[in-house]
Parts: sequence; C-alpha cells; structure tokens
Amino acid sequence: MTGHLDGTVALVTGASSGIGAATARTLAAHGARVAAVARRRDRLDDLVAEIGRAGGRALPVAADITVRSQAEAAVRQTAEHFGRIDTLVNNAGLMLAGPVVGADTDDWDRMIAVNVRGLLYVTRAALPYLLTTAEQGPRHVADVVNISSVGGRRAANGFGVYNLTKFGVNGFTDALRQEVTRRHVRVGVVEPGGVVTELGSHNRPEIRAEVIDPFFEQHEALLPEDIAEAVAHMVTRPRRASVHELWVMPTEQL
Ligand code: NDP
Repeated sequence: MTGHLDGTVALVTGASSGIGAATARTLAAHGARVAAVARRRDRLDDLVAEIGRAGGRALPVAADITVRSQAEAAVRQTAEHFGRIDTLVNNAGLMLAGPVVGADTDDWDRMIAVNVRGLLYVTRAALPYLLTTAEQGPRHVADVVNISSVGGRRAANGFGVYNLTKFGVNGFTDALRQEVTRRHVRVGVVEPGGVVTELGSHNRPEIRAEVIDPFFEQHEALLPEDIAEAVAHMVTRPRRASVHELWVMPTEQL
C-alpha cells in the first residue's frame, strides 16, 4: 500500500465494527495514524492490535459521542496523543426501522442522538484542529467525510426517522463544505447502499425478520471494505480536488 497519508492523523467514529473498523484499517494502511472511537473498548483494543501487527499505528478511544463532553474529550485525546488531526470520518450511526404510526419514540431519540447530535459534537470539536492542519500541515489540506446513506438521498417506507437523520447529514455536509472549503478543509459525504455489518442487528426481531433479512437476501451486498476504499479515495486526492459526494451501491440494488 502506498503511503499517501504518511504523517497524517485520522479520527474515525464507530470504529469498533463494520464500515468504521474497515475505514480505520484502510487509512492506517495508507500511512495515517488512526484514533479509533466507539463505546466498546475491547473491540477497539483488538482493532488497534491488528493495525499494529500490520505495521500501522492506532489509538483506542472509548467514548459515547452522544454525550457532548465525551465527544469533545475524544477529539482532545486524539490531538494530544498524535499532535494533530488531518482527517475526520463521522461514521458512527444507528438504523432502527419501523413505521411512524405507533413508533417507540426511544428509537427516534437514540437515532437522532448518534446520527445527528453525535456527528455535530465531534465535528464542532474537531474543526479547530482541522483548520490548523489545513493552514500548517504537510499536505495543507484537511478532510471531513460523513457517512450518510442511500437513505440520505431517497426515502423509503418504514425508514422515516433514519431518512430524516441522513437527509440532515447530507444538508449539513454541503453547508459546512461551503463554510470551510476556501480554508482547505474539504467536506464530503459517502452514501452507501446495503453493506454487511452489524447495523441491522439492533432492530427488533420482527423488523429484522420482515425488513432487514429479506433485504440482504435479495442481492449481493457490499462489504465494509468497499466503503473504506471510497473514503480513502476522497482523502487521498491532491489538494486542488475535493470529492463532495460518493454514492456507492451494491450492483444489484435498485
Ligand atoms: P455497525 O453497527 O457495524 O457500526 C456502527 C458503529 O457505530 C459501531 O462501531 C458502534 O460502536 C458505533 N456507535 C454507535 N453508537 C455510538 C455512540 N453512541 N458513540 C460512539 N460510537 C457509537 O454499522 P455500520 O458499519 O453499517 O454503520 C456505519 C455507518 O454506515 C452508519 O452511519 C450507518 O448509518 C451507515 N450506513 C450503513 C449501511 C449498511 O448497510 N450497513 C448503509 C448505509 C449507511 P459501539 O457500539 O462500540 O459504540
């Protein structure tokens, strides 16, 4: 693997499984030192050990990003440990499907907390470091990559509040891009279709049986590595080129 990201530092949220873990591995393989953020410390320790065995460097950072003080502490810990932040990947997320009629509002609160509030807290805390990197860093550019979803591009019956959060992520991404792109902080979004991860497993058994499992049985889904490669593509562009949006779908998904 080439060292396109040698000397840089990446913070990846939701790094304890799925797309986030794959992204941490891939960015480390490109030479970045990676802060791996999530709640499950044991998973992070395993990932960091694996990255180390492969010749990379990573730091486990246990944090619940829905708690603002923890989100801010995770960013601060990353910057203090590695001395800088060049790349932020806002990946942590939750998808709880189900009808709006009679919905459990705790499900809504949990999704909004992670997909929206957590992303905002981490981004706000990281921006001063990213702006400094863009001014002074070796590559004179910094990156924010938000992991949205095909659900941020089009709505689907039964996914209303997930759609709300991911459409929101897309809008926020472009507004923030316009705010900081002339200061050379690139802000982009990746919109995956179905990826084989733990995401669906947090749903109630009846939702899994009726919605999630049939969806994944009907076609060959993406692997987390497919999305990690998309993120790596965005953050390894030359300073002059900013990829705003990558919509990555399983070939057979309509
Ligand atoms: P996973 O469930 O495998 O991973 C979700 C990650 O988010 C875990 O590492 C989890 O870690 C972390 N997380 C959840 N809550 C918190 C929290 N409060 N604080 C910190 N970390 C948290 O799912 P995916 O890898 O699939 O999901 C990653 C992103 O990709 C999400 O934003 C999702 O919406 C998006 N996506 C996924 C698709 C798919 O088909 N899989 C399709 C389109 C988009 P822990 O529990 O240890 O805190």
